[in-house]
Amino acid sequence: MNPNVQPDTAHVKRVVIVGGGTSGWMCAAAIARMAPAGLSVTLVESEEIGVIGVGEASIPTLIKFNDFLGLNENDVLRYCRGTFKLGIEFVDWLGAGERYFHPFGLFGRDTPEFAFHQLWLRLKAMSANGTAPPDAAGGIHDYNLCSAAAAQGRFSPPNGGSDTILSTMRHAYHFDASLYGQLLRGYAEQRNVSRVEGKVVDVMRDPELGMIRSVSLGDGRVLAGDLFIDCSGFRSLLIGDALGSDFVDWSHYLPCDRALALPTERTGLPTPFTRATADRAGWRWRIPLQQRNGNGYVFASDFIDWDEAHRQLLDGAEGASLAEPMPLRFRTGHRRAFWEKNCIAIGLAGGFIEPLESTSIHLAQVGIQRLINLWPGCGINAAEVTHYNRAMCADYERIRDFIVLHYHAAQRKDSEFWRYVSNMAIPDTLAGRLDMFRAHGRIIPDPEDLFSEHSWLAVMLGQGIHPRNYDTLVDRIPADTLIHHMRLLKNAVAKTASTLLIHQEYIDRHCAV
Ligand code: FAD
Repeated sequence: MNPNVQPDTAHVKRVVIVGGGTSGWMCAAAIARMAPAGLSVTLVESEEIGVIGVGEASIPTLIKFNDFLGLNENDVLRYCRGTFKLGIEFVDWLGAGERYFHPFGLFGRDTPEFAFHQLWLRLKAMSANGTAPPDAAGGIHDYNLCSAAAAQGRFSPPNGGSDTILSTMRHAYHFDASLYGQLLRGYAEQRNVSRVEGKVVDVMRDPELGMIRSVSLGDGRVLAGDLFIDCSGFRSLLIGDALGSDFVDWSHYLPCDRALALPTERTGLPTPFTRATADRAGWRWRIPLQQRNGNGYVFASDFIDWDEAHRQLLDGAEGASLAEPMPLRFRTGHRRAFWEKNCIAIGLAGGFIEPLESTSIHLAQVGIQRLINLWPGCGINAAEVTHYNRAMCADYERIRDFIVLHYHAAQRKDSEFWRYVSNMAIPDTLAGRLDMFRAHGRIIPDPEDLFSEHSWLAVMLGQGIHPRNYDTLVDRIPADTLIHHMRLLKNAVAKTASTLLIHQEYIDRHCAV
């Protein structure tokens, strides 16, 4: 017998998912989609406890998840009252009235030898030393179709062959995440996932091996399983409470730990982007849905209290309030082990990075995809568990660095919070990236990185970090060729953007409620 296979879990035939938030139903739907005959999947959720009820912005990777399930984009958006998202507009991060955009789409076109932004950096240097016309390079966003479309309130999904500018578009959604959960519930139930309503009050473990054997509910029912998936949200009932996987706390890097969420009436047309406005002790989001706006204030309780945050949120929100602001508490960090014994934590039960770049649903998705890739049908293998945990930790760390960048490089110094985040120690991995960018504009792409070099470029330049030099190997391109190539690109972006539908028109044609 293979010593890595724990004998008591030799065959996974019964899966129990604890929690029916977005993560729980994503997990149930994905497993149902892949389940071999004979696998029973049960999801238990408690209406009394409810779901967290926020999480309205996504990133482009969700498209893959919907494709995997075979869901049609327009049907999903119609059901979830969604709009399209081309990126995030950051307001006031550099100082009052300053703004920059982090688009999902690609900047220009890389050549086989060089990243596109190296061409742009060289052209800018040429303009500065008089070897190119002063306006030859323009701004980096002149070369990004998502940025150009967003600035005009227009939208299109990517289209056309890889040689077209329209193929450089990338998009995601703003949606009602509770409705998304309900959509997936229907999907999963149609594929034989059983839903149990009830509150888990106890977790029974094998005395010798420590495996979870069953969970019991408040009314005495017992749900036995071979594999348990903890989707219980911040409660972390199984991986945290029952199995004791400790919490790796990143509050020193990302001190925001509270939020107030507030729906308001829609004002004007929905923007095809999320807005993140820096405020005294954190930042406020504005997310346009088809029939309302989602707003919220993410803040650090070490720097302001609930009452003050409430005032700042109401001052900043546009449109009449549709409810009282909902308070939320959280901590940025993750469970040291996402997979322990026969339990895997997905979603908030496994960890949370504050929502500045809307990465939480994505992290649940990645956890689910990895679990499916390592499905322990014939037994849990220690090496696979180690791999899973390492890979999840690395994903969290890379995303953490990207979020820390926003705070570290923000140039506001007008409150205690902003002075703290601009002076705090940052992870070495981030410091290394910043050094390389400052020296030669280098952004080393990592295939495992969620945020590509285009995203790092947008946020570093957006936050006012500028390379001292470019990669001088670019000098081998003749100056005239470079100027001509860049002009063509800029013109193609401007022309294509102007032909796209206004975002609302696109919604009306394809996915209006
Ligand atoms: P939850 O929604 O909390 O679900 C937990 C489930 O477990 C519920 O069904 C609950 O009833 C059940 N449960 C708990 N205890 C028990 C028990 N004892 N017995 C039975 N059932 C139980 N993510 C994004 O991707 N984009 C965003 O823009 C975004 N914004 C956010 C803003 C804020 C302020 C916060 C805090 C989070 C945000 N998130 C965002 C994260 C997002 O909300 C979550 O990733 C998503 O909702 C999934 O949550 P979940 O399913 O893991 O947990």
